[in-house]
Amino acid sequence: MIIMKFGGTSVGSAERIAATADIILSAKHPVVVVLSAMSGATNSLLALSEGKGSQDSIIERHTATAESLGLPKNICSKIHAIMDAASTPSEIVACGELLSTTIMHSYLCSKGADAAWVPALDFMSVGTDGEPDTKTIKRSAKTAIEKTGQHDIYITQGFICRDSSGAVSTLSRGGSDYTATLLGEALGAESVQIWTDVDGVYTADPRRVQTARRIPKMSYAQANTAARRGAKILHPDCISVAMAYYAYFAAIAGFKRGYRHESFVVIEISYNSASCFRME
Ligand code: ADP
Ligand code: ASP
Ligand code: MG
Repeated sequence: MIIMKFGGTSVGSAERIAATADIILSAKHPVVVVLSAMSGATNSLLALSEGKGSQDSIIERHTATAESLGLPKNICSKIHAIMDAASTPSEIVACGELLSTTIMHSYLCSKGADAAWVPALDFMSVGTDGEPDTKTIKRSAKTAIEKTGQHDIYITQGFICRDSSGAVSTLSRGGSDYTATLLGEALGAESVQIWTDVDGVYTADPRRVQTARRIPKMSYAQANTAARRGAKILHPDCISVAMAYYAYFAAIAGFKRGYRHESFVVIEISYNSASCFRME
């Protein structure tokens, strides 16, 4: 079992969703796919949760995306149902990942894939301290996946979770990377791949700094420093999970791999020692 995480940039439009679906379809199965909300969707939902912006424009964006992908008509009622069911601010913010995964799942099924939709709210929980409750995640993740039966592809949501009282909540911004590594640990995955729109971790944001250089190999400490200094490409907490659970087995690589439609693996945390290099 491998975990592939795609961020908002990889599901930000119908074209990106189709390209990402191609990558998922040609991956080694079984695969658990962790998705973020469409780029910008979480910002719109946050505004909506504060009484600003409009629910209609969010529904329109997702419906138009589904239509461009040629999805069956019932996807529109699913989109409405997800939005209508949200009442608390956190439930509203959580809609982004519920919508993107619903669209991706429907698209993969329309392509004939054997894909299941797994609710992250059934396994991702945080404790009273707001930190992930790894024991519960470990126990529940397997059950949530098994409940759907055996499939090639399991699609689930990054970022969203339940708090200690069972209410819908979220991790911190950019938290889908963290979901992916937590899930990798919980399921004993072979590897966790974080896919995005730039070909690796750079010395600075390559979109802003022309002289930024790609870092071809990184130690955990370097990745940690980069993430904590604000390199948006990796959520800082996902490095800590990798360090805690995969130390001495893991590789973090900034190498370009599987280039297709501007999607890249920026890190691959792997149990497979053959493809690993060890760094303290
Ligand atoms: P995703 O939607 O895939 O989670 P993010 O937008 O969160 O992607 O992160 C990818 C973006 O991070 C890149 O498009 C890039 O502009 C930005 N970025 C910031 N700092 C760095 C860095 N040091 N190396 C690479 N990318 C960086
Ligand atoms: N959608 C969430 C955010 O925008 C989580 C993520 O993208 O990882 O912060
Ligand atoms: Mg991100």
